[in-house]
Amino acid sequence: MSQTGGVSPPTSTGPAPQAGSPALTVGEVEDLLRSVAPPDLAESWDSNRLICGDPAEPVRTVVLAVDPVAAVVDEAIEHGADMVITHHPLYLRGTDHVSATDPKGRVVHRLVRAGIALANAHTTLDSAHGGVADALAALVGLEDTTPLVPHPSDPSQGIGRVGRLPAPTTLLQLARAVAQALPDSVPGLLLGGDPQATVTTIAVCGGAGDSLLGAARDRGADVFLTADLRHHPAGEHLEAGRPYLLCGTHWATEWVGLPPLARALEAGAGARGRTLQVHVSRTVTDPWALRLNTGT
Ligand SMILES: [Zn+2]
Repeated sequence: MSQTGGVSPPTSTGPAPQAGSPALTVGEVEDLLRSVAPPDLAESWDSNRLICGDPAEPVRTVVLAVDPVAAVVDEAIEHGADMVITHHPLYLRGTDHVSATDPKGRVVHRLVRAGIALANAHTTLDSAHGGVADALAALVGLEDTTPLVPHPSDPSQGIGRVGRLPAPTTLLQLARAVAQALPDSVPGLLLGGDPQATVTTIAVCGGAGDSLLGAARDRGADVFLTADLRHHPAGEHLEAGRPYLLCGTHWATEWVGLPPLARALEAGAGARGRTLQVHVSRTVTDPWALRLNTGT
């Protein structure tokens, strides 16, 4: 299915703040975030941190999103948020400026002016118990899951998951169920392989997973659900057989990790006797605005 991109109404998942309940600080919300997505799970090349904001400032409302882009800043300002937590970092490599002369600098300027802190949890949230990989595995209905790539510091967590369906199905039936369960964005879901093949063991990895095609095959997966697959890696992989491929979008396959994060932050605040209102953004931040069928 195709649709135009754009901003959807934010979804409130939390209770309204209680009058008189002291607010958490940016630093305390970051502590909650790091308890859900432990820093030890970060990949060596990655950035998972407080990007802008003062740890001492109060936070009553948080917006969760996949990407720290202008449309998400718009949504946070409209929402009166005190903090934004994104999956992706704003800067993955070093920069020598945060002037408002480029889009990332403008994000920093607008957030600071509006008094909104920004933090992110990227590969830490991908790998963590209850993070992106577990959320995607749950969406597929997988049982007995283990990490596709176990993390050296804790092999029970890591990138991706492999598990089994409760009962065998066809690739096409699985694809239909996955397409219905993922949030929609323009490219939708692509299927590679024999739609009528029987499948049981499924590997999943949110975001760009083509470096893990071999790992999914080594684990005996019948299907690998990921995103951003390219012509040569995907085509050459399928020439050698299973796992068949389901290719969603980067945004959709990672967005599924945000609702569980919202619930964990709210529970963490509640355990401290505080109230935190957490809104999960539905703003589609895949780059595509429209899909046209090609040919005559
Ligand atoms: Zn990603």
